[in-house]
Amino acid sequence: MALLLSPRWSWCAETGLRERPHILVEGDRIAAILAEPPSMDAERIALEDGLLLPGLINLHNHAFSAPLFRGLADDIAPGALPGHILFSLLMPLGDLVAEIMDPEEIGDAVEMALLECLMTGTTAMLDIWRPQQRAFIPRARALGLRTWSCPYLFTRPNLAMGADGRPEWRGEDASEASFDFVMRLFAEAHEGPDGLASVGFGPHGPDSNSPELLRRVDRAAREMGALVSIHCAQNPLEIAAVEAAHGRRSVAHLAECGLLRPGVILGHCMFATDEEIAQVRDAGAAIASCPLGFARSGRAVPLARFLASGVRLGIGTDGVTLDMVDELRAAAVLARTQSGDPSQGAAERLLAAATRDSADALGRPDLGRLTPGSRADLVMFDLSAPRYQPVWNPLRALLTNGAGRDAHTVVTAGRLRVAHRTLLRGDAAAITRRGAAAIARVWAEAERRGAIPAAIAARRAAA
Ligand SMILES: [Zn+2]
Repeated sequence: MALLLSPRWSWCAETGLRERPHILVEGDRIAAILAEPPSMDAERIALEDGLLLPGLINLHNHAFSAPLFRGLADDIAPGALPGHILFSLLMPLGDLVAEIMDPEEIGDAVEMALLECLMTGTTAMLDIWRPQQRAFIPRARALGLRTWSCPYLFTRPNLAMGADGRPEWRGEDASEASFDFVMRLFAEAHEGPDGLASVGFGPHGPDSNSPELLRRVDRAAREMGALVSIHCAQNPLEIAAVEAAHGRRSVAHLAECGLLRPGVILGHCMFATDEEIAQVRDAGAAIASCPLGFARSGRAVPLARFLASGVRLGIGTDGVTLDMVDELRAAAVLARTQSGDPSQGAAERLLAAATRDSADALGRPDLGRLTPGSRADLVMFDLSAPRYQPVWNPLRALLTNGAGRDAHTVVTAGRLRVAHRTLLRGDAAAITRRGAAAIARVWAEAERRGAIPAAIAARRAAA
C-alpha cells in the first residue's frame, strides 16, 4: 500500500522548506509531493508539529565500539593511564572481544547500537568494522537500516608501542587475507542500489596499509563500482609515519595511490592543511568529520576550515555517540567558535552535509533528497515538546534545541521502520537487553583479568 506522510514542515537541500506538504511514497520511492492530500488508499501519518527530512546519513561510524567503550573512555586526564589509551584500554578490550565473544553476541551488541541509530533518525550509515563483526549486515538489514559495510584492510594489523613510545604497526602481512575477505563479502552481501546492504573497502589508514595494497584496493574498487573509506590525517603520528616511509604526507600519498577521487571518503582529515583540504576538494573525494569523538579527547575538528573550503563534507559519529542530531549540533558549535562567526555552521548547511552531500559522497544521488523519484529514506521529527515550542524555524529548533530521540517516524526504502517512536519489526527492549548483556559480559571478564586500567576501574559505579 502507498504511504502518505503529512508533516507541518518538510525540508531538503534541493527544494528548501515547505509548509504542510503531503509526501506520497510508492514502492521504495517518493512518488509525489502534493499540496492537498490525495483521496487514494494509503497508510497515512499526519503530525501537527512534524518536521520531515531526508533520513540522516552517518558517513563514518564504528557501531560496535559505541557500547563497548561507553562511559569507559571518557574524562580521562592526560597521564591517568599507564600508556596511550589505545594500548591501555582500546586494543586490549578489542582483543578480549575477539577471544571470548561469539558472532551472535557481537551481533547482539551491534544490533543495540544500530537500533539507537535508527531510533534517532539515521537511515543510512557507512560503518567500518572487523571481520568478526560480520553480523552487522544481517542485523542492520533486519532493522531496515541502509548500510555500507567497509571492513578494515591492513597490511600490518597489530598496533604496538615502539621502543620510542610511538605506535608501530606490526604482525604478519595481512594484505592478502583482508583483501580476500572484502572480495568474498562483496560477492555474498553487496546488493547495490536496489537493496539495503552495500559493501566497500575500508583500508584502515595510509600508515597501516602498504602502497601496493592501497593501489590494489583502488583498482578493484573502480572495477566493482565499490566505495572506499579510509582514515586520513587523523593524527600527527600517522602523518609522520607516512612521511618517514614514503617521503610525502598522508593526502599526497593517497593521491599517489589512486585514492583521492570521487568514491573515496576520508575519515577525519583532522590534521590536514588548507592546501590539502583544497586538494581533496579538487579531486572530488569527500571528508567525513566526527566532532564529538575528538572533543572527548580534548581536540576540536577543523569544521570552520572544512566549511570554508567547499570540500564535500559529511558528518559521522565514529562509534562515540550514535545520535546524528547531537553530532550536528557539535559541528555547528565548533564552526562558530573556530570562526568567531555565528552564521557559520547554519542548520541548513549541516543538514545538507548529513543528507544530500553525504548521499553524493556515497555515489547515490537517489538518496538524501525529497524529490519525486528519490528513494524514500525519510525521518519525521516531532517538534511538539516544550524544548521546541513555539517554533520560529523548525531547522534551527531541531539543531539548537533538539534531540534525536524525537524521531517520530522513520522510513527506509519506502517502508515504515519506526512509527510513533516505536520500532515496528522487532522488540526494542529485548534488543537493548541482549546488547547490554553481551557487553556487560566482556566488561566483567576484562575486570576479572585486570584488563581495565586502575584509573578507569576505580570509578565504576557499584554493581
Ligand atoms: Zn574511524
